[in-house]
Amino acid sequence: MPHATFVRPDLTTFTRLDELGLEVVGQFLACRVVDPDQWCRRCGGEGIPRGSVVRRLAHEPFGWRPTLLVVTVRRYRCGECGHVWRQDMSKAAEPRAKLSRRALRWALESIV
Ligand SMILES: [Zn+2]
Repeated sequence: MPHATFVRPDLTTFTRLDELGLEVVGQFLACRVVDPDQWCRRCGGEGIPRGSVVRRLAHEPFGWRPTLLVVTVRRYRCGECGHVWRQDMSKAAEPRAKLSRRALRWALESIV
């Protein structure tokens, strides 16, 4: 049995997919935005949760395999003025971007 210290962590083995005759070729990470964002940007009223949407972002590879973030983002509707918005996730990615901020940095570092 190989010494664990000298073996690169292998997701296929870790997830016991090898026992099923499968190997990992990519991965999805289910996530959600941590900071609540329930105050209306227009009038400051309190937003009422109105379900959620899922946003997919390519992330930096983990273990050299493509990683996709599947982010659940809450939607709110202002109880005062009716304005509708989504939880702010600008920390994770630019609006409408397909890449996470980490993925962008990873891509730039790969070019340099
Ligand atoms: Zn409002």
